[in-house]
Amino acid sequence: MKKIMISILFFALVLTALPAIIITFVSPDTDGKEEKSAFDDAGAEEVFVSGDYNFCASPDLMIRVYINERDETVEMKLDDYIKGVLPAEMPPSFNIEALKAQAVAARTYVLAHKQQYEQKGYPPEHKGNADACTNYKHCKAWVSEDDAKARWQDWDQVYKQKIDDAVTSTANICMVYNDEPIVAVFHSTSSGVTESAKDVWGSDVPYLQSVESEGDVLSPKYNAVKSVSMTEFMDKVQAAHPDIDWSEGIIGEITRSDAGGILTIKLGNQKLSGTELRELFGLQSVNAQLEISEDAQTVTITTKGNGHGVGMSQYGANYMAEEGKSYIEILKSYYTNVELAKVN
Ligand SMILES: [Zn+2]
Repeated sequence: MKKIMISILFFALVLTALPAIIITFVSPDTDGKEEKSAFDDAGAEEVFVSGDYNFCASPDLMIRVYINERDETVEMKLDDYIKGVLPAEMPPSFNIEALKAQAVAARTYVLAHKQQYEQKGYPPEHKGNADACTNYKHCKAWVSEDDAKARWQDWDQVYKQKIDDAVTSTANICMVYNDEPIVAVFHSTSSGVTESAKDVWGSDVPYLQSVESEGDVLSPKYNAVKSVSMTEFMDKVQAAHPDIDWSEGIIGEITRSDAGGILTIKLGNQKLSGTELRELFGLQSVNAQLEISEDAQTVTITTKGNGHGVGMSQYGANYMAEEGKSYIEILKSYYTNVELAKVN
């Protein structure tokens, strides 16, 4: 009996000590070289891939922007365009590292589209073969310098410099996957987990996968509740699906993505996508719960997150920045397996 006890004790000790032994063997040398992160001063360049990334271009590259508000196409420097996109798409009060991440995402987004349009033709919405437009529903929101001054009281004192710094300190940098600029989509706030492009738009994009986004729960845009009367609910669905038959019930089976967003929802005898439901009722996100009141007069829709949920969450990015993460760490956490290319 005593022997057995000793044997058990021996194995327990080995098991306890094993991790310590492994750690001892793989610990870095005492000079600490291996402990240096890739973001240290000396190794800063190592995080960027080198190659023939001409599309990534210089900040002086000229692009054509169709300004919807003025119905004219204007040629401007790439980074001057980005300086107008940045405050229009992300609160300029956000942490500088979040703004830098946003600058790289916006720059990469327009470069990816520019390349695509050059190869496959320009969309009719872009008058004068513009590389971008200022309609946020089609491309990205954009503000002119004058509009920015009018919109933010602190523009001249604080924000102008901050936006300039975010753009110029990331000049020449864009994100690549398989040596191509990525379609760097982003959104305001995720549900806590981002959605994959496949679940929201139906096509698998290797760098737009579902990832954790820790800080979103703190976003002021995290929760939203919308109540509609049952009549309005049924009318809206019926307007989009005139042949609907409600005899099977109002709300049927719901399928969800790993992130919790609605993939499909059965309303009456019709199957709608989560995106269609979101558009029909102007919901903040597809991560929705639907509840019918006891008297069956009201449908309450509670959502988590704000936006399509794919790619970088802006509030999540700001949370990471506040936690001390760099813009590179932020981008790499939201865009799966991308590399940062820097063109000199
Ligand atoms: Zn556009």
